[in-house]
Amino acid sequence: MFLRIDRLQAELPAPTKQDPNAAAALQELLGGKYGEMSTLGNYMFQSFNFRSKSKLRPFYSLVAAITAEELGHVELVSNGVAMLANGPDSDAGEAGGADISNAPFAAMQDIRSFASFASHAGGAMPVNSNSMSWNADMVTTTGNVVVDLLHNFHLECGARLHKLRVYETLTEPTGREVCGYLLVRGSVHAHAYALALKQITGADITKVLPTPNIPLDRIPECQKYLAEGSHRRLYRFSPDDYREMAGIWGNGEQALPGDPPGELEVVDGPPEGGKVHDLTGVASAFAPDYAPEEMFEVAERLWKASR
Ligand code: MN
Ligand code: MN
Repeated sequence: MFLRIDRLQAELPAPTKQDPNAAAALQELLGGKYGEMSTLGNYMFQSFNFRSKSKLRPFYSLVAAITAEELGHVELVSNGVAMLANGPDSDAGEAGGADISNAPFAAMQDIRSFASFASHAGGAMPVNSNSMSWNADMVTTTGNVVVDLLHNFHLECGARLHKLRVYETLTEPTGREVCGYLLVRGSVHAHAYALALKQITGADITKVLPTPNIPLDRIPECQKYLAEGSHRRLYRFSPDDYREMAGIWGNGEQALPGDPPGELEVVDGPPEGGKVHDLTGVASAFAPDYAPEEMFEVAERLWKASR
């Protein structure tokens, strides 16, 4: 089962301007071929379907714990998409009854994904940068542990390719931060699957890393995560389970050459992360609609009653 924590895995800086096309670019990291929906879907179903779990505990634990992290990546990218689509926060516009007679959203006709405004009010969806639906064809769960781990290694390298290309298109700090954090974590996952394959087969594909060949120290947004040692950490995302993966991620294994040196470690629980951004309402787009002031009042009364 899953436990939910109302925080993001990384602190995202607020956008400086509304940029729905940057949001659409970032959607590629959510619902694209190598996006977070794909990594989540692959590891989640592989972990559900894993054979001989009790005998292959370190490998099962690795896939299961990374599954939980990927769910948090889906959450992080989704928040980044919505933040970019909505722009800087504003207290204005929270009241109902907005004037809609002068085409306040005329500019939305020219954004890449009009549906992201018209159907989702600038929210994220499991679609790629061209609004094509993510679907189950992106999931590989073969029942063969080596084939699945090889697929996962390819997926993480492909995700790195994705993130570097999207990063190269973005000027907004929100989207660049999402890429910086995910590049560090993707590097960890590629490394982890390579180490798992090395343990089973003896083949050292850690030597293929990094692919594509840009070291993390060339990306400014990665620096604080490298400084805190995120590239050496795997999180259990569990009060007490999945400790066995320390046999693969740990066990004297070291950070990749090119990254700050140190031993790999399994960390209890989740990362500290950052706050969930508070998207404000937009009366002229009918979100959240009804009578905002009344809804806020009802919510406050209910909240008080719950304490
Ligand atoms: Mn991910
Ligand atoms: Mn990953």
